[in-house]
Amino acid sequence: MNKFFPTEYLPSIYEIDIDELKKRGKKGIIFDIDNTLVPYDVAEPPQSIIAFFEKIRQAGIKITLVSNNTEDRVTRFNQNLKVFALHKSQKPFTKSFKKALELMDCSKEEALIVGDQIFTDVYGGNSAGIETILVVPVSDKDEWITKIKRGLEKRVIKHYEKQRAKHNR
Ligand SMILES: [Mg+2]
Repeated sequence: MNKFFPTEYLPSIYEIDIDELKKRGKKGIIFDIDNTLVPYDVAEPPQSIIAFFEKIRQAGIKITLVSNNTEDRVTRFNQNLKVFALHKSQKPFTKSFKKALELMDCSKEEALIVGDQIFTDVYGGNSAGIETILVVPVSDKDEWITKIKRGLEKRVIKHYEKQRAKHNR
């Protein structure tokens, strides 16, 4: 079960403490796109994402978009952001995460994965030995394949929160 647990679970990407990450020696963040940054039917990043990425950049932390979506989707989304980006990543397989580490020139300990899905982003991150932050999906609209997994995800999150509560007691 622990393979499905994130390092941290947050309401949104904007809750991520960039200064704290910097202090802990993080040098690269891998972001999922769909339902982590924007709903999957939003083609371009809003100003809030552009500003947040700028803040990360200014902290000296690099960014790679790692998405299972198509080249068209990822390229258009990244047009104004101009960060490293990988499409058709086949998460939870770890190949793209390892490629992202290479691009950002950082070790797995210096990296962090941020995503909305347990069975792709979190499981893949844990398999690659990279810390993960699970965020609540920005939209309840999902592609059909994801919809199927959400029920199971809810059960995993329940277990995770139970374990968390026990630790914090
Ligand atoms: Mg996603």
